[in-house]
Amino acid sequence: MQDKWILVTGGSRGIGRATVMRLAKDWNVVFTWQNSQKESDELEQACAGLPGSVEGHQCDGRDEQAVAALSAELLARLGAPHAVVHNAGITLDALHIHQTRENWHKVMDTNLNAIFYWNQQLLEPMMLQGGGSVVMMSSVTGIKGNSGQTAYAATKAAMIGVSRTLSIELGRFGIRVNCLLPGYIRTEILDTVPKDVLSGIRKTIPLKRFGQPEEVAGAVSWLVSDDSAYMTGQTLVLDGGLSA
Ligand code: NDP
Repeated sequence: MQDKWILVTGGSRGIGRATVMRLAKDWNVVFTWQNSQKESDELEQACAGLPGSVEGHQCDGRDEQAVAALSAELLARLGAPHAVVHNAGITLDALHIHQTRENWHKVMDTNLNAIFYWNQQLLEPMMLQGGGSVVMMSSVTGIKGNSGQTAYAATKAAMIGVSRTLSIELGRFGIRVNCLLPGYIRTEILDTVPKDVLSGIRKTIPLKRFGQPEEVAGAVSWLVSDDSAYMTGQTLVLDGGLSA
């Protein structure tokens, strides 16, 4: 068990929840959420027996002041984090010509601008600490087009650009920055896709199944550990072969 902490944004449900549970076997974990108080409370209880401490905080990543306030409190109490997992994300799918301005900006703010706000607060303390790991939860949609997802794809491709560039800027401080690109993973995000569309998609996946949140969590656990110590600026695709 490590005496350090990791931030997981959007940790109350889905991939974030599985990641919190996986990481808490080895690390102390702080996770954020926006609306899901009930799920957050349940997750804290579910993690009570694990070696790491787990605490959830309401913090809308789109709100720069809220991110700054929570960061200041955590840094003062816990010091610099060992790792940051930028996981919070939304889709708000629509064909590009039907995309509303409001939803376009909501996706940019949630999936991309929040990363900037968190990084502005946490990277410098991590540099001073002498190292760490940043993991961005991008998507296979960042490298492979998907109808209805121009806004989502723009943010997920941007995450790849941000992480590659950051890895060059932060390598000499011992901070590694990598992107995970999951394909279709069984979470509530998939509930928004019609059943017949989902069954058609499943047939196009070489492994013939959707991924499980725990399978993504295992990759995050590896990326924050010393087992991946020589890997930075890379994209790791976890999509059952969809983009092969
Ligand atoms: P879920 O919808 O299941 O969970 C999203 C999480 O993000 C929730 O904890 C939610 O909290 C949180 N969140 C959303 N908006 C905000 C916000 N403004 N501030 C703070 N937290 C927020 O999503 P998934 O688990 O499926 O996806 C997690 C990540 O993985 C996303 O970035 C997604 O793009 C990516 N991904 C998912 C894939 C999939 O197939 N599921 C495939 C590829 C990538 P709350 O409930 O409180 O709103």
